[in-house]
Amino acid sequence: MSNTQRPLEVACPQCRKKVVWSEKNAYRPFCSERCRLLDLGAWADGSHRIAGEPAMDETEIDEMILRAERGLQEPE
Ligand SMILES: [Zn+2]
Repeated sequence: MSNTQRPLEVACPQCRKKVVWSEKNAYRPFCSERCRLLDLGAWADGSHRIAGEPAMDETEIDEMILRAERGLQEPE
């Protein structure tokens, strides 16, 4: 009755579809190659914005990455 291998589900950052996080999914956390490319392309041309959210400057992004690397996550 052990249940240690519960699949972890994440939402695709591009289309918000539920994606099972598994080693078989080469595109994780995205649901597909298409979404991954779309997201990377959006970052590359600087248009990665979530509607209604203020743009972050580079300092804030750096801080966010530092926090993420330390494993500290702020509540949304
Ligand atoms: Zn997707």
